[in-house]
Amino acid sequence: MKVFKGKGVYGAVAIGNASLFKRNEIPVKRVSITDVEAEKARVDKAKEHSLEQLKDIYDKALKEVGETNAQIFEIHMMMLEDDDYNDSITSIIETQKVNAEYAVAATSDNFAEMFSLMDDSYMQARALDVRDISNRIIGNLSQEKLPSTYSDNKMIICSDDLAPSETVSLDKNSLLAFVTANGSANSHTAILARNMNIPAVIGVGADFLSQVQDSQLMVVDGYTGEVILEPDEKTLTKYKIKQAEDTAKKKLLLELKGKDNVTIDGTKIEIFANIGSTSNIGAVLLNDASGIGLFRSEFLYLENSDYPSEDQQFLNYKKVLESMAGKKVIIRTLDIGADKQVDYFNLAKEDNPALGYRAIRICLTRPDIFKTQLRALLRASVYGNLGIMFPMITSVSEIEKIKKICDEVKAELKSNNIRYSDKIEIGIMIETPAAAIISDKLAPLVDFFSVGTNDLTQYTLACDRQNPILEDFCDTHHEAILRLIKFAADNAHKYGKWIGICGELAADTSLTESFLRMGIDELSVSPSYVLKVRDTVRNINLK
Ligand code: PEP
Ligand code: MG
Repeated sequence: MKVFKGKGVYGAVAIGNASLFKRNEIPVKRVSITDVEAEKARVDKAKEHSLEQLKDIYDKALKEVGETNAQIFEIHMMMLEDDDYNDSITSIIETQKVNAEYAVAATSDNFAEMFSLMDDSYMQARALDVRDISNRIIGNLSQEKLPSTYSDNKMIICSDDLAPSETVSLDKNSLLAFVTANGSANSHTAILARNMNIPAVIGVGADFLSQVQDSQLMVVDGYTGEVILEPDEKTLTKYKIKQAEDTAKKKLLLELKGKDNVTIDGTKIEIFANIGSTSNIGAVLLNDASGIGLFRSEFLYLENSDYPSEDQQFLNYKKVLESMAGKKVIIRTLDIGADKQVDYFNLAKEDNPALGYRAIRICLTRPDIFKTQLRALLRASVYGNLGIMFPMITSVSEIEKIKKICDEVKAELKSNNIRYSDKIEIGIMIETPAAAIISDKLAPLVDFFSVGTNDLTQYTLACDRQNPILEDFCDTHHEAILRLIKFAADNAHKYGKWIGICGELAADTSLTESFLRMGIDELSVSPSYVLKVRDTVRNINLK
């Protein structure tokens, strides 16, 4: 038994087999194709192959585990022949001119999400099956060896570090937890782990990877940051108990669904959720968030191998808005750059990327990219209650430029008779000290502020959020940060505007009372933290 210690970034306990992350095995990339028929033929061949495999597995299961248990593979064979499923794959290849792997993966995501949102628990369980058969087809398309059943294919991914683009590409269905040798708690990889409800420990030390082998039993404690390799019997039992208690506690929180976010003395606050993709919507609904306070739209760009088209973006935004059925959805425009690098942007290497060419700075100098996104957002706005938020603001002139571009896009849409809502709220991130300090000048120009405490902390304390050595210096409770938030809140309210917090600090329940006392109107947190923050709010008395 070996024990490693890092930083837990999502509180949960995982027990399972280790799997060393192999960089060249990132699944499913979106590739543009020209020969649609050839791509459809590839799907047919991979499906045929999958069907043969499933027949073999069914026969084996029938002998070894009996008919009832083997039936699942019959269901898989039926799903493989399902018309809706197959039509969706074909239509994605034909309309988007993309590779078969991508079309199968996208169909899998859509169907799995549809199943998981159904009321019936039997139908919910079909989400896993649709993913399983899709993975089988994708594996056969790329000739990879597949496990014969999915019962034991959930792994604890062990890596030196994971870039945000790698994290979003991980197959969530085979991911039990992840452990990285390096990495910092404020990185986007850590944020993604929280958004995806994945127990994760980062920064366990450089010698970790030399000690781990594939398939070794491992315990990951996302609360304490402990990672135990090959635990002895006593340790394993201890963690099994901890895991069961944790699950029971989380179940208890579900009783708060449908309840108000209100303190004992009657002060109300909105609790929204942060998402990075439409695949997080299920978790938002499950945890009863009253809206989406931050949709990090850049992950759409990170998942793509080329600029996402206006239509592709439109469909994503429409889906979120429709799913939230009139609840507020705040979509943040592209915040690419710094640690969120996308190859096809061809951004030059910079010495200080966090202080460099990123976010709104890219949008204002590349209006082609910015206008495509704004058009998609405006078109989607008629499907729900949209707010658009701009990242990395430092000045009044940036807002003036943004508004001018927005007006141009609106005029273009109008002249083409394309509808957009006239009730869209426009907001900015307060994530630079400059924005907080001139918040009295910015408030009259916008409808709301949302404080990005992750960047506000790094810029105020001059602490690179990506650098694990600085973690002890990166005091998110520093008085300077809290004063800047209070200052921005007072200025927002002076002009009748609302203010939220969407950085990770919003989920820090030791500060919830302070935020309420500052008059913060909304806290936006990872979906799995919504009910925990609600619980905290309901136990606070401000009188
Ligand atoms: C922040 O900086 O607090 C924030 C919410 O944005 P991101 O973490 O995506 O930079
Ligand atoms: Mg930020």
